[in-house]
Amino acid sequence: MSIVDKPEVFDQLVERLSKLSSVEYIVVAHEGLPYKIAKIDLSRADVIIALVSDVLSKTIKYKGISSSIDWVSLGLSTGKALYIRMFNSFTLILECDREIIGQIHDIVNRFIKDKLFKCSKCGLELDSIEIKCPYCSKNIVASSIRCPYCGGCIGIRRCPKCRSRIRYNGELVRVRTKALIPGIALSTALGLALWLINPVVGYTALLAGLYFTAIISYPTST
Ligand SMILES: [Zn+2]
Ligand SMILES: [Zn+2]
Repeated sequence: MSIVDKPEVFDQLVERLSKLSSVEYIVVAHEGLPYKIAKIDLSRADVIIALVSDVLSKTIKYKGISSSIDWVSLGLSTGKALYIRMFNSFTLILECDREIIGQIHDIVNRFIKDKLFKCSKCGLELDSIEIKCPYCSKNIVASSIRCPYCGGCIGIRRCPKCRSRIRYNGELVRVRTKALIPGIALSTALGLALWLINPVVGYTALLAGLYFTAIISYPTST
């Protein structure tokens, strides 16, 4: 029996997943009955469970009983998809945007291992909170490496709570102060030396040096 077969642990997982705006509804089934539901009414949850158990019985027949599949995703004609995850005593079913199925799977896996991505400064859980994609403005999980909708690379982002500059997994991005002082000193010295020969060249060299130092000291990509 894994940790997620405890009802109280499942409650925590449902609570987190239901915070994501692209998750339409969540149904947790226990022995063919709704055990826990979110963003959905009970009668509809019953219908979903009946549908899913029908699909699962066919899937298992098709794949063969011996296969160790523990999750299935089903694309729906609406452009959404169902994520179905089987645990020993519970089945998690949720409907979400098709694009984020892989992310949902990763989040559930991290939850099971108690390794959800958190801001390493303030501890905010990045897997259950959203940020806006800087390219397409869609709401995406704060732990996204790439935007699942437009494919834009999300490099360093600000923690929505403490505004620290962090990577997708919550790791803090530190300013490389070691490069800052020598960089400024070197740029100034070079700029001054060249200034004596030609002020325009000196000024350009100073600016280029400072720009280069800034790039090295403030990393902007993952
Ligand atoms: Zn933070
Ligand atoms: Zn995007």
